[in-house]
Amino acid sequence: MSLVRYQNFVDGQYVKNQTNAFFDVTNPATGNIVYQVEIADDKVKELAISSAKKGFNAWAQLSGIERSRILMKAVTLLRERNDELAKIEVEDTGKPLSEAVAVDVTSGADAIEFFAGIAPAIEGNQQSLGNDFYYTRREPLGVCAGIGAWNYPLQIACWKAAPALAAGNSMIFKPSEETPLGALKLAEIFVEAGVPAGVFNVLQGDGAVGAWLSECPEIAKVSFTGEVSTGKKVMTSAAGSLKEVTMELGGKSPMIIFEDADINNAVSAAMLGNFYTQGEVCTNGTRVYLHDAIYDEFVDALLTRTKENIVVGDPLDQRTNFGAMISKAHQEKVLDCINKGVAEGATLLCGGSNVIPENAPNGYFVAPTIFADCHENMSIVRDEIFGPVMCLMRFSGEKEAVQKANATDFGLAAGVFTRDINRAHRVVHQLEAGICWINSYGLSPVEMPVGGYKQSGVGRENGVETIKHYTQIKSVYVGMQALECPF
Ligand code: NDP
Repeated sequence: MSLVRYQNFVDGQYVKNQTNAFFDVTNPATGNIVYQVEIADDKVKELAISSAKKGFNAWAQLSGIERSRILMKAVTLLRERNDELAKIEVEDTGKPLSEAVAVDVTSGADAIEFFAGIAPAIEGNQQSLGNDFYYTRREPLGVCAGIGAWNYPLQIACWKAAPALAAGNSMIFKPSEETPLGALKLAEIFVEAGVPAGVFNVLQGDGAVGAWLSECPEIAKVSFTGEVSTGKKVMTSAAGSLKEVTMELGGKSPMIIFEDADINNAVSAAMLGNFYTQGEVCTNGTRVYLHDAIYDEFVDALLTRTKENIVVGDPLDQRTNFGAMISKAHQEKVLDCINKGVAEGATLLCGGSNVIPENAPNGYFVAPTIFADCHENMSIVRDEIFGPVMCLMRFSGEKEAVQKANATDFGLAAGVFTRDINRAHRVVHQLEAGICWINSYGLSPVEMPVGGYKQSGVGRENGVETIKHYTQIKSVYVGMQALECPF
């Protein structure tokens, strides 16, 4: 059976490349190649730039409320097609359908809805200067690039496109080669909603296409989601033309569970923050610090719930709540990390190997894995694994917990669990992380800005704040009288 081959989406339509180069896309839950995608060649890239410039000129001319109306139509279409789009995400990523129908499309639609609401409210200000005055205009940047990771492909495309387009920019988006279809569907939806051709183009390919976007002098900004090491390369390339950058990078986030915490809630958080999306979430709280007094109680409850409630298997089966790793290579990487943990002396409490579910025997599954007796020098505690691997550690005092939590180059997220309101805020204020949760974990509503401290990122996504990262201020001084001049 011949496979469907998708093309790049440029200037409001699918366009054929000249080189005929393409890549295969594999469903990680079955190991089958499910479709193919053409790689953007020079001709497609040139067209993407010229059409994005043209799209920008048309789009930026519209008033905020006109852009808003069009974007709101895209929101309606996304929500109407929730189940169909969720299935695409499942086939590309291997995550459970039960998650994708509830989160992936709706959280993307929420972002477009939120920024569409803000579009008409983007404004400058003015100030009197005696008889003269100045005013500011908050203007779009121009053609922006978005480069996405593979764990939430459609959501990431929406989170980048929403503020960019609301502010009047155009965007060229490159999804991960592992998960290229969601962004193409978003491009189709934007066109159907009335977004002018060229305002949202999708280029396909591997890191080389991302590198080209990062370098291209005609692009004003690059918003990147991915690994720290790739982020550094993108930022280096972007420096060549002094582009604006937003970097949403990796993490190794701590959860601190104090002795007075609601244990059941803290266990829920640890499980969500390590096993949701089979552990492939950037904010995951993979370093779990437990107060000595509740260590045993917490571990008992955690192991019981992990063994009894996690269902690994075919992501399309409604009972499944834990899916496949994105690829064979990633499955192997995660298993290598686990083996290193064992070799370094951590105690394996559960998991630790691949899983072969009856209903998905060829998928790339890794069992939910929990290590005890971990310490800060172990690679499983230091390095981002991006898989279902939780590390448990003990502490006895608040100061020690904060010091251990901050002992990392990452700074994406953190969680604090306690019933003591003063302690909760006191600890959070000392944590070096851009996203902190108190008695909660992982929730990321579009209203709340997200992004990393230290090596976990630059800039923010979501929240009103993000409009600043997609606009630039023009100051206009207005002279109301003749200039005084010594010449
Ligand atoms: P990568 O850094 O490997 O890839 C991210 C994107 O960059 C992909 O589209 C990739 O293309 C592309 N790319 C690769 N090389 C280059 C390059 N030299 N220049 C420009 N672009 C390039 O990350 P993953 O896709 O493996 O995603 C997992 C990572 O993403 C984890 O570290 C995770 O923490 C992070 N992440 C962060 C989030 C946040 O909001 N902070 C959210 C989600 C994930 P291709 O894949 O086709 O090679």
